[in-house]
Amino acid sequence: MKNIIFIAPPAAGKGTVSDFLVSNYNYEHISTGDLLREEIKSGSSLGKEIDNIISKGGLVSDEFMIKLMEEKLAKLDKNKAFILDGFPRTIKQAEKLDEMLITNKVTNNIVIYLDISLDDALGRVMGRVICPKCKRSYNLTNEKLKPIKDNICDNCGVELEKRSDDTEETFKVRFDSYLENTRPILDYYKDKGILKWVDATMNIDNMFQIIVNEAKND
Ligand code: AMP
Repeated sequence: MKNIIFIAPPAAGKGTVSDFLVSNYNYEHISTGDLLREEIKSGSSLGKEIDNIISKGGLVSDEFMIKLMEEKLAKLDKNKAFILDGFPRTIKQAEKLDEMLITNKVTNNIVIYLDISLDDALGRVMGRVICPKCKRSYNLTNEKLKPIKDNICDNCGVELEKRSDDTEETFKVRFDSYLENTRPILDYYKDKGILKWVDATMNIDNMFQIIVNEAKND
């Protein structure tokens, strides 16, 4: 399978597709949001700074994110395909990622854009809950993405949580930041000829299938 770089507005379904690919195709899932939330949970002073940024819907600095990703990519198991979920989020990060992929001799990559409108994404964000342990994300507004037992993770049996930045107010800031900082990356990858567009509002099983077909090696 190819490595997948997801570019999408918040709550388009990057996490849900990633969970599916990890379970069924043995992908390594690198979610920068999960990594940052882990740092926040550790209670460190760095975590407090990050929390301050994330809870307002802002972006953590390019410098910090690039360093985090460099460390992560250097440690990757080269026999496994990986998913980048949440990185790059700016043109600067996209440019640096190209350099990192070359340095680490990582080829066979595709970029998948999950397209969703602000209203649809807002609907999803309001119903989203995540497992604090395995990070799986659920959606209470979608029959197929609900946990079996109310508010309990199917995998871990622990109580699900709402993300502190999944409020209507913060979501709008995040969506605006996506339009301003992240959306321009699409042209960057379109020019390189590796961008695949996927409608993130279609039936979820069809969407999984389309993404799997795109990710299969030719
Ligand atoms: P996510 O879980 O991908 O929605 O990310 C949650 C939050 O983490 C984002 O709203 C940003 O504040 C921060 N974040 C995650 N990835 C990045 C990144 N690549 N660059 C800057 N900030 C990021």
